[in-house]
Amino acid sequence: MSPLVVLLIPLLFSCSPSSSVPIGSRYILRAIDVDSNTGPDLHDAAVDLNTTNFDQVLRNTPATYAIVEFFAHWCPACRNYKPHYEKVARLFNGPDAVHPGIILMTRVDCASKINTRLCDNFSVGHYPMLLWGNPSKFVSGSWDPKKDKNEIRLIDDGRTAERLLNWINKQIGSFFSLDDQKFENDHLASNASDPEQIARAVYDIEEATSTAYDIILEQKMIKSETRASLIKFLQILVVHHPSRRCRKGSAEVLVNFDDLCPSDMGTPNKQEATDGNGKGALRNFQICGKEVPRGYWMFCRGSKNETRGFSCGLWILLHSLSVRIEDGESQLAFTAICDFIHNFFICEECRQHFYEMCLSVSSPFNKTRDFALWLWSAHNKVNERLVKEEASLGTGDPKFPKIIWPSKQLCPSCYFSLSKNDDGTSQINWNRDEVFKFLSSYYGKMLVSLYKDKGLLGDDGTDRVSLEDLATTTNAVVVPVGAALAIALASCAFGALACFWRSQQKNRKYLHQLHSLKNI
Ligand SMILES: Cc1cc2nc3c(=O)[nH]c(=O)nc-3n(C[C@H](O)[C@H](O)[C@H](O)COP(=O)(O)OP(=O)(O)OC[C@H]3O[C@@H](n4cnc5c(N)ncnc54)[C@H](O)[C@@H]3O)c2cc1C
Repeated sequence: MSPLVVLLIPLLFSCSPSSSVPIGSRYILRAIDVDSNTGPDLHDAAVDLNTTNFDQVLRNTPATYAIVEFFAHWCPACRNYKPHYEKVARLFNGPDAVHPGIILMTRVDCASKINTRLCDNFSVGHYPMLLWGNPSKFVSGSWDPKKDKNEIRLIDDGRTAERLLNWINKQIGSFFSLDDQKFENDHLASNASDPEQIARAVYDIEEATSTAYDIILEQKMIKSETRASLIKFLQILVVHHPSRRCRKGSAEVLVNFDDLCPSDMGTPNKQEATDGNGKGALRNFQICGKEVPRGYWMFCRGSKNETRGFSCGLWILLHSLSVRIEDGESQLAFTAICDFIHNFFICEECRQHFYEMCLSVSSPFNKTRDFALWLWSAHNKVNERLVKEEASLGTGDPKFPKIIWPSKQLCPSCYFSLSKNDDGTSQINWNRDEVFKFLSSYYGKMLVSLYKDKGLLGDDGTDRVSLEDLATTTNAVVVPVGAALAIALASCAFGALACFWRSQQKNRKYLHQLHSLKNI
């Protein structure tokens, strides 16, 4: 360590905002950072915030709590504190977090001029200073130490990583330890279907959508014979995805699809209209915005590394779409989902089984209810098969055994009767009206009840596509608000944007080669 640092550390153990340090020292300390144990800032788990992203990040985080560390980059005490703060942040933040989605740990550099007002609003009186609260309370928020009833609290005993974690444990009644290992998820509630839990699943739906999109691009799955089914699925996402940012992202992809992925790209010399990774221009679009994927699952988190996750998120996405579509869209949604799974779900056994179930449907769906119940029943058939398979192979998640769903505990009114067969299996007489009511509420209102980005929720808690979506869509010039209004007034069932896109395709005499399901 340089002699200058040895001198500085004891002198500046704790800093006040008024401490005056020559500008040049900033660069000395930066240089030290590269050699320190924490490594370069690139690998920091705590999220750097400033005036421009503070409100947005705290508004959108799925985490229940937030900690904001106010520090100054020139303050040696802050630098010494950083490894402690990072040790705790690594438990909660980032793709390798042991306990993701619970606490968002952030930091704000008050010595950066851009943040002066932000730090003033939170009455930063010393460095480092840690505040705790619900993330939403920080948004456009302030903190006044003199107020009795602050919803934001000062962390008064977080001097070391151990003490900070103790403070957190006391605050929320948890038992987190610095030694916790990833995927030792003993704390997980085993009944992930609890109504309080499903409200976290909207973040998994975003994660699953984004993961599916990445897989499709990475595996070069868009071919001349599959692109129409992707387009159909995107059309549904644009209007009915429960997450606003995924609706917006899907609209961006859809509107630009023809240019980014021309219909003749299936021919060998055109396939690399994408780049060398097979991702190409479509890669520039993030289907659920730049914050997703986050790299972790919440509702769909398994108790083991290799269980649950993506396939669980995909099911929840499909169920949430099934209860959001209108009656008139049910057949289209059915074929779109069947084709999407068939063409783009990379699990061979899953897609084959699912497609067989699709092919066994003998008459078209006319009602949302019928399609939602079909999907529920198809999922239960998969569950039924996997109950046996996982029991014999020991491949299931011990904390989340497959069940015929919903359990009686979760939805008592869904059951007319429940009895046991001689072989130990259950015989259930379902009340299908009640099951549909339950599905609509569970995957409708409950799913989005905690979603932070509620801008577009209707009074009944359901999402609606709005002009705001259309106006903020990338290439908004493509869909002027006036035109969108006219289209919306013409009641295009699939939303103005998708309708606009479709009319564009017609104008271009674009031929869809729809994947042919059995004639139904
Ligand atoms: C289309 C599709 C087909 C699949 N086919 C296969 C297969 O053939 N073989 C295989 O090994 N794996 C298959 N999988 C994966 C498998 O179904 C599970 O997703 C995976 O084992 C993870 O299970 P899980 O415990 O997270 O619960 P999942 O079955 O993924 O369910 C997620 C959540 O949905 C809810 N849920 C459960 N059942 C229902 C239901 N009937 N209706 C509504 N909601 C419900 C529960 O809250 C549950 O926690 C398939 C997945 C998908 C998306």
